[in-house]
Amino acid sequence: MLLLKPEPTRRAKEIFQEACCIENMEAKFGRTLSKDEDSVRRFILTQSPILGRIPFIDEIRKEFNKFQKEKVDAILNKLHQVDAIHLDNDKTNIVAAYPFSGSETSHQVYLNRKGFKRVYAMCSIDALGMSFMFNCDVSIESLCIHCGEKIEIEIRDNEIFVLNPKNTVVWYDMEYSCCAATSVCKHTNFFSSEKHYEDWQKGKPIKKGNLLPIQEAFYLGKLFFENRLDN
Ligand SMILES: [Zn+2]
Repeated sequence: MLLLKPEPTRRAKEIFQEACCIENMEAKFGRTLSKDEDSVRRFILTQSPILGRIPFIDEIRKEFNKFQKEKVDAILNKLHQVDAIHLDNDKTNIVAAYPFSGSETSHQVYLNRKGFKRVYAMCSIDALGMSFMFNCDVSIESLCIHCGEKIEIEIRDNEIFVLNPKNTVVWYDMEYSCCAATSVCKHTNFFSSEKHYEDWQKGKPIKKGNLLPIQEAFYLGKLFFENRLDN
């Protein structure tokens, strides 16, 4: 049986370090947030797989009805500022609460825990990080962004035991702009092979990023998500 562990390479650690310089990872992990800000952050992240979607703002206000509406809105704005979540332009909806997407993406994730529903991940790394975040088994259904071939990944005990196609790789994009949702996430995808990445890249401007074997992408998912809910 195939068993791929997350591979802690120096490159993956450097990618994470660089992301920490650009992004406010401490806030995303809740470490630099106030107690109230962090409790809203946690509610959003823990409710998303139960609902199978990111909670609506009304649902968050209802859960935190001990706070005034203005306070909840200020907290959501703060979470948006540190890019723990991403609000739409008129601030009426949460379109991203990493690793979860508020709309359909090509990365469907099934978390194998009672009461959890199918969710959409923001990108391939976010999909690969969920088993560490919730410490449960996970099935990922995605596709090669070049040819559309279905990609299946099964994770048990934080090891990959099914990988189809077997040469699947991840392009990790590092062209960060204002927030991950509108920049790196959109371009961080699975490819069915290195060749398909190369074919897809042909004729396009060279971008900053790394083509990662699945074990290395899996480790990066671990670095980004394993500590999101335990501080
Ligand atoms: Zn392909």
